[in-house]
Amino acid sequence: MDFTFDARTEELRARLLAFMDEYVYPAESVAEEQRALLASPWDTPAVVEDLKAEARRQGLWNLFLPDAEHGAGLTNLQYAPLAEITGRSPHLAPTALNCAAPDTGNMEVLAQFGDERQKKQWLEPLLAGEIRSAFAMTEPEVASSDATNITTLIERDEGGASRSSGAESGGEYVVTGRKWYISGAMNPDCRIFIVMGKTDPDASDVRRQQSMVLVPRDTPGVTVERAMKVFGYEDHSHGGHAEVVFDHARVPAANLIGEEGGGFAIAQARLGPGRIHHCMRLIGMAERAIELMCRRAVSRDAFGKALARQGVVHNWIADARVTVEQLRLLVLKTAWMMDTVGNRGAHTEIQAIKIATPRAVVDIIDRAIQLHGAGGVSQDFPLAELYASARTLMIADGPDEVHQRSLARRELKKYL
Ligand SMILES: Cc1cc2nc3c(=O)[nH]c(=O)nc-3n(C[C@H](O)[C@H](O)[C@H](O)COP(=O)(O)OP(=O)(O)OC[C@H]3O[C@@H](n4cnc5c(N)ncnc54)[C@H](O)[C@@H]3O)c2cc1C
Repeated sequence: MDFTFDARTEELRARLLAFMDEYVYPAESVAEEQRALLASPWDTPAVVEDLKAEARRQGLWNLFLPDAEHGAGLTNLQYAPLAEITGRSPHLAPTALNCAAPDTGNMEVLAQFGDERQKKQWLEPLLAGEIRSAFAMTEPEVASSDATNITTLIERDEGGASRSSGAESGGEYVVTGRKWYISGAMNPDCRIFIVMGKTDPDASDVRRQQSMVLVPRDTPGVTVERAMKVFGYEDHSHGGHAEVVFDHARVPAANLIGEEGGGFAIAQARLGPGRIHHCMRLIGMAERAIELMCRRAVSRDAFGKALARQGVVHNWIADARVTVEQLRLLVLKTAWMMDTVGNRGAHTEIQAIKIATPRAVVDIIDRAIQLHGAGGVSQDFPLAELYASARTLMIADGPDEVHQRSLARRELKKYL
């Protein structure tokens, strides 16, 4: 294993670091000021569109997509250090580069499983950063970490005569269900939902019951009901997390992604890269927390000496540095394995980083908050927001315990 950055990665890193210094960090406060003046807090502040235009001009665009036809064609190992840098400003930089979840996962699904019409209609504007998208799987009424519990129905109506966007396939799908914590859906630019539901709830193979279908936001029967809060905050910069109702929402049968019964497999394929991207960005969040911790420690005195001279602060900083170095190596190993043996072959490593990274980064940010005193929980430092983001990643994309269960079972199998 050789994790030396190659020439292309080095070159992109240098350009991205300069872009962060020149454009992204200064835009953090501007975005908040502009948002306060918007007609709706869910609209996109102008500075975000400026950042997108500049990133695109500089070729710092769609770096996440390994598919060279649609994206930058980087390997996971090349993308990892770049995603880490964007994690230093997780509410702005990924969006600026068109590398933000959930659009990244949705674009991957469309690139991998979409047909030509679906790619033209939805992948192209997503790649161009003209629209946003959402992924709707989780339901308030059932334990959704177990996807077999999903109750949303996607029923085929052979007699339906939908002809949307040139599709003249026979019939329609009728989508009925309630979803929540659907990231990005409060933003009016979010034009399309990828909805996971059951086309065959009685299939004996519980992993063949689900399918995924594209549901445009303006479909009659789709209602974005309310914004779900995160630790009491509305998470505007992520486009919020919405509760969405699909009440007999009809879409052309041609909106099915892949085949009927293929939803579970697509969800698995979607979550592998998504998980490593989250972990790469989390390491960037931890690096930002360490930087803030050190700057604060050397610039503030208590009881006659700088905080940096307190032994306990040394322990916090040292432990944080050691943890970040360990995590980064594991994430890079995982990226390398995904590139060399594929996502399936890297299953254990993907789960290991998803278990290890959020909880360790939560701990590092927590120490940084402590060192900042009241400032740490205030709006004047990004730490409270970083904490909330990192903490939710112990739940989103599969709670820790679900990954632990699956990893442990695979480990035990060796001895049975
Ligand atoms: C900020 C945020 C953004 C999100 N964005 C999206 C999105 O865009 N689209 C989407 O579809 N969903 C999204 N989610 C939802 C997220 O994916 C789910 O919350 C997650 O999959 C867990 O499902 P659940 O909430 O139904 O928890 P449940 O399935 O009810 O589980 C609750 C808890 O039970 C425990 N548990 C579950 N199974 C086991 C087990 N086998 N062993 C031991 N303990 C277990 C875990 O501690 C778990 O946290 C988001 C969530 C958050 C917080």
